[in-house]
Formats: sequence, C-alpha cells, structure tokens
Amino acid sequence: MEYEGIVIRPPSEAESLILQVSLGCSHNRCTFCPTYKGRRFRIKDLDQIKAEIDEVAPYGPFRKVFLADGDALIIPQPKLKAILEYLQEKITGLRRVGIYGNAKSILRKSGEEMKELKERKLGIIYLGVETGDETLLKTIQKGATYEQLVEAGRRVRAAGISLSATVLLGLAGVENAQRHALATAKVLSDIDPDFASALTLMVVPGTPLHEDMREGRFRLPSPFQLLEELGTILANANFSRCYFTSNHASNYLPIKARLPKDKDAVVRLIHDVVSSHDSSRLRPEFLRGL
Ligand code: SF4
Repeated sequence: MEYEGIVIRPPSEAESLILQVSLGCSHNRCTFCPTYKGRRFRIKDLDQIKAEIDEVAPYGPFRKVFLADGDALIIPQPKLKAILEYLQEKITGLRRVGIYGNAKSILRKSGEEMKELKERKLGIIYLGVETGDETLLKTIQKGATYEQLVEAGRRVRAAGISLSATVLLGLAGVENAQRHALATAKVLSDIDPDFASALTLMVVPGTPLHEDMREGRFRLPSPFQLLEELGTILANANFSRCYFTSNHASNYLPIKARLPKDKDAVVRLIHDVVSSHDSSRLRPEFLRGL
C-alpha cells in the first residue's frame, strides 16, 4: 500500500492503521490551510480500497483504523458503508474507525445515516471548528456558519459517535483576538464535544493568509497573546464532559484537562504564565511544528 502526498492524522490516531480512502480535501479553500493546496480531491475506487485492505490485513490485528485524507466523510453513504463493512470483515481486532469531517460532509448525512455508520464501527469524527466568530468564519472561507457547525457537531453526538473539535488560536490576528476567543468559547459550549483541542496557528508560505501577513493585513499575536486567547476560551466555555488538550507541537504551553473538573486549575495556570511573561515557561520556537 502506497500513500500519496502528505498524509495527516490527529495525534490520537498515532497508533492507528491509516487507510487513505480519499486524496486531498473536497473543500480545500480555508485560507490558513497549506495541507492539500494544489491537489485535486479524489475518492479512490472501492476495488482499490478493498485491495489495500487485503494487503494490510495480514499485518494485524489493528484495534483502530483512521480513514484519510482531509474530509473522507464526504464519501457517499453506500461506498462509506461498504468500506466500513469490508474493514469489519477483514481486519481482526477492529474496535474503532476514525475520520475527518467538516460541517458540509456531516450535514450531508442524515441522523439515520450517521447511526448506520456508528453501527459499522465509525466511532469518532474529527471536526475542524477553528472559530465561533461568524465574520472570521467567512474571512477564512471555512464554508460553514456558526449554526451549521453547531448542528453538525450535535448530529454526530446524537448518533452516539464521539466528536473531537479543533479550534485555532491566533486565527483572528491581533485586532480581533478577544472576539474570536469569546465566540470560540461559545461555539464549543454549544457543540459540547467529547474531545476538544486548541492548536496554534502557524502561517505557512503559499497560503492566502501568508499573503495577508506579508502585505500587512494580518498580524500574528505574540506567544503570550495566544495564551491569553486560550485562557479566555477555557474560562468562558462550559462543557458537560470534555477532554481538552492543547498539547499539539504548535502550542506554546502544553495543556491536558478534564473539564469541567480541571477548569479552575488550568485557567489559573494560564493566567500565571501570561502574567509572568517568562518565556522559559513556553515551548521554544525551534520545537514548535505543524
Ligand atoms: S476543510 Fe480542513 S483540510 Fe480542508 S482546506 Fe479546510 S482546514 Fe484544510
């Protein structure tokens, strides 16, 4: 089995078998995202996918499988069901399948269809929310409104599938940072995901956002301003039960928290680090990465 192009997966899928059932991202317009720029989206033929499953199956057991690339949930329902059924048939020890989805690919599936996927071991969907700020969602061309993001997140959870939501610190630049943080706290509270993570924006050459930064239309907040955003999100978001992480390689201060239990402690920690302005408490720049 050969992977084509860059294959990304969530940190929690590090030990999963990664099966590339689609290539690229069907949306591919987010102004900050360098991952699939210049690549055409394509869904592989079912025969090819089955042949790849046949090829890797003898190396099992595999407890978890992750279906790549960008938003593989966009795969039409009959084909996605067939992939999940074939995985169940061929992969020994399979407990859970994970996949990236965006609001559009989730909302194209009805509640019933989501349940069909759940019955075939689709156990977690990773949704890039990025922000709850309606204006910013348009600026970054996320392709979804606040309402659509909330509806998509809730539809996943209503089907009994775990939801992992990601937001992006620094996305509003310096000027609108507070508005972005407050709206992001609100959208996370409204979605109420099982898992949430905050990544830190890295502006990558070749993206429209990089062009904005080069021409002075966008200013990246400082590491301490980014941490303030994280503090605002955590202080204002309300979860019924969420495992929150901000420990991606892009982040300046690694956080892992069970919310709401750890809320006060992490908000206090972030506040301490921000008020200290002590750079030695942050992950050094050379250790950060996408
Ligand atoms: S939906 Fe995700 S993968 Fe696709 S362009 Fe946006 S951020 Fe990138």
